[in-house]
Amino acid sequence: MALKTSSIRTLAVMTSGGDAPGMNAALRAVVRRALARGLRVVGVRRGWLGAVENTMVEMTWSSVGGILQRGGASLGTARCRRFMTREGRRQAAVHLYREKVDALIVIGGEGSLTGAQVLAREWADLLAEAAALGEIDPWPEEHPPRLDVVGLPGSIDNDIYGSDMSIGADTALHRIVTAADQLTSTAAAHQRTFVVEVMGRHCGYLALAGGLAAGAQWVILPEEELDPRWHHTMVRSLQRGRDAGRQHALVIMAEGARHPDGLPLEAHTVKQILDKQVGETRVTVLGHVQRGGSPTAFDRILATSLGAAAVDYLLDTEDPEPVMMGLVANQIKATPLDEVIANSRQAVDWIEEGQLDAVLDLRGPGFQSQLQLLKILTAVKPRPASPRGNLLILTTGHDAPGMNAAVRVATRVAWNEGYQVWGGQYGLPGLLEGRIQPLGWMDVSGWASRGGSELGTGYHVLQAQDLPALAQILQAHEIQAMVWVGGTSAYLSAQTIIEYGQDIPGLHIPLVVIPASINNNLPGSDFAVGADTALNNIIQAVDKIKDTAGANRRVFIVQVMGHEAGYLAILSGLASGAEEVFIPEEGVTLQKILDLVTRLRASFAQGRRLALLILNEKASATYDIEMIRRIMEEEGGEFFDVRSIILGHIQRGGAPTPFDRTLAARLAAGAIHVLLQEDWEQVQARVVGLRGNRLQALALTEAIEEMAWPVERPKDAWYLRYLDLVRGLDIVSNQ
Ligand code: ATP
Repeated sequence: MALKTSSIRTLAVMTSGGDAPGMNAALRAVVRRALARGLRVVGVRRGWLGAVENTMVEMTWSSVGGILQRGGASLGTARCRRFMTREGRRQAAVHLYREKVDALIVIGGEGSLTGAQVLAREWADLLAEAAALGEIDPWPEEHPPRLDVVGLPGSIDNDIYGSDMSIGADTALHRIVTAADQLTSTAAAHQRTFVVEVMGRHCGYLALAGGLAAGAQWVILPEEELDPRWHHTMVRSLQRGRDAGRQHALVIMAEGARHPDGLPLEAHTVKQILDKQVGETRVTVLGHVQRGGSPTAFDRILATSLGAAAVDYLLDTEDPEPVMMGLVANQIKATPLDEVIANSRQAVDWIEEGQLDAVLDLRGPGFQSQLQLLKILTAVKPRPASPRGNLLILTTGHDAPGMNAAVRVATRVAWNEGYQVWGGQYGLPGLLEGRIQPLGWMDVSGWASRGGSELGTGYHVLQAQDLPALAQILQAHEIQAMVWVGGTSAYLSAQTIIEYGQDIPGLHIPLVVIPASINNNLPGSDFAVGADTALNNIIQAVDKIKDTAGANRRVFIVQVMGHEAGYLAILSGLASGAEEVFIPEEGVTLQKILDLVTRLRASFAQGRRLALLILNEKASATYDIEMIRRIMEEEGGEFFDVRSIILGHIQRGGAPTPFDRTLAARLAAGAIHVLLQEDWEQVQARVVGLRGNRLQALALTEAIEEMAWPVERPKDAWYLRYLDLVRGLDIVSNQ
C-alpha cells in the first residue's frame, strides 16, 4: 500500500446524525487505512457536537478493534443545533485547527454531509475570524488554511443520492424482513391482516424492497401518487386474496406515506379501514429495532470499502474537492458533495410538493422496475393475456437460498404474460423420471421467505444419451419454453442440449438459466442467488466463534464453502475482520503458512488474544484444514493454540436474505421478459444476470466463455479486488 504523498498529515473522523449499523465498520476502515498510510488520526466524539465542544480523541489501531460487528456508533453520534450557527461552526473550526486537522471524514446522513460541505466552504473565513478574535494564532500568508472533506453515506433510509445503497440500509431491511416473516406466520394462524410501518420519511426504499422480499400483499410508499379512492382498491385486492385462499395479508407502509391530499397517512387509519372491511387487523410499528443490532455482511463490506476508499481519495487526489464516496453499479464512485446534497434535498422537496413523477425519475429505473414487479406479484390472479403455451420451471443442482423466491416470481410473471406454468420436481434427475406438476398462481403463495427448494432439486449434468428421454417428457407436456434456476450443472446441461439436441424434436425451445449458487462462481452475473445468504450465515457463525475465545490466546481457522472460487472466503474474511484468507485462486504453500505464523507470533507477543483465518474448502489439496492447524500449532509454540472449524451445510440453510430474495425476483422477472423479447432463432439458451446494477441476458455460449474450466470460476473474478482490503486492515500484516 502506498504511503501518503499529499500534504495531509492529520485526519479527523466522525459519525453524525442518526446512527446506522455499519458506521463502526466504516470508522474502523477509515482509522486503519489512514494509520497504515502514515496519517495521524483523531476521532471526534458525538458528531458535530463533539467538534463544537472539543471532544476529540487520538485514534490508534486498537481503538477500533472489536467494533466491526457491533451496531450503533462507538464514537457516539448526535444532532447539534449550535453547529447550525456560524458561531458554533467557528468553535468547531478552532478546535479542529488546534488539533492540526487538515482533512475530515464524516459518516452520516444528508444533514451531516451538509455540515461538512458548509464547514469546508467557510473554513478559511471562520479561521480568519477566530484569528482576529485572538482565539488562534494567525498563520503565514502563503499557506491559507484548507480543510479537505469526504462524506460517507450513513442512513438506514437509503435516501442519499450518489450511492445505490447507504450504510445501514441492508441491515434495516434484514430487520424488516425478519419481522415480516414472523408476523406472517402468526397472521396466517389467525387469518389476520398485519399493517407494518417501516422507516422512511421521504424515501420508500425500505417499504418497497421489504415488501418485495417479504411477499407483502400491499405496499404504501411516499413516492406513489395515491388515487383518491385508493382504500377501495386496497380493500378489494385484499378481499380477493382472502377469497382465493390466502390465510393472511401483510401491508407494509413507509412512515412517510401520505393521503392523496399530501397529509400524513397513519398506520392506524389503514387499520381502521381494514378492520371494517377485510377483518381483524393489527398494527406493528417497527421503529428503532430497524436501526439496531449487528450489521449484515453487505453493510460491513460496503462500509469497509467506502471507508478505505475515502482515505485513498484524500491522499491520492491532487487538490481533492469535497465528495461523497458511494457504491454505484457495484463500483466505488466519488460524487461531488454539492451534487449529493442538492439531489438528496430535491427528492425531499418534491415529495413535500407532491411532484412524485419527478421523484420516481430521480430514484432511477431499478426502483421503478421493482415497483412494477411488486404490482404484478401482489395481484390475486394473472391479468388476461393471449395464451402463449406451456412453460417449465425447474430448480436444479445444489439448492441455494432464494430459489423459491425465483420460482414464485417466474411463475407469476409468466402467468401474467399468458403462459401455462409447470414445475419440474427434484431438478433434472426428477424431470428425467417424468416428475412434473402444474404450478398455479396461488401455489407459490408464501414461497418468498422459504429456504431450500419447494419444487425439490437434484444434481445431474445432462449427457447426450439423456436427451431423447428429456424430449419425450417435454413433448408429452407440450413444453414450449424453460426457465432453470441453478448452478454449473444447469449451465453444462443447457450446453449439452445446444450441442447434441438440435435435431431432436421437442428440444429446440428457448431456455433461460437463472444463476443460483451459494459459491457465487457463475458466469454471466456479478451475483448468484444464494451467495448473500451464505455470506451472512458465515459471519453470524464466525461472530459467535470469536466470542468463545475469551482471554485465551487462540487462532481460529474457519473453513467455508465456495468450491474453486474464493468469493465466500474473501468476502466473509472482510466482513468478519479475518487476519488472512486462503483461496484457490492463490493456493496455499508451506512458506505462506510459516510466514503467517511468524507474524502471528509477533502479534500475540504484543498482547493479541485472538486471530481469525478463513480457508476456502478447495484452497489446497495438500494443505487441508487439519494439516494447516497442525503446522500452526507446532510452529506457534507457546504463543497461541489453534482450533479448526468446518462450517459445512449451515452455510446454505435458513431463510434467504432480502438481497437474495430481491435478486431472485429481479432475475426471474428478467428471465420471462428475455423469453418474450429476445430473438430465439439463433440462440437457444441464455443466462440472465446482474452486471453492475443492470440486468443482462447473455447467450449461454458466451457465458460459458467467461468461465475458467475445469476449475469452474469466473475468468475475471471481480471479488479479488477485495483481497488487498482484507490484508490491509489487519494488524498482523501492518506491524
Ligand atoms: P439522518 O439521516 O439520521 O437524519 P442526518 O445526518 O441527516 O442523519 P441531521 O439531524 O439532519 O441528521 O443532521 C445532523 C447534524 O448535521 C445536525 O444536527 C447539524 O449539526 C448538522 N447539519 C445539518 N444540516 C446542516 C446545515 N445546513 N448546516 C450545517 N450543519 C448542518
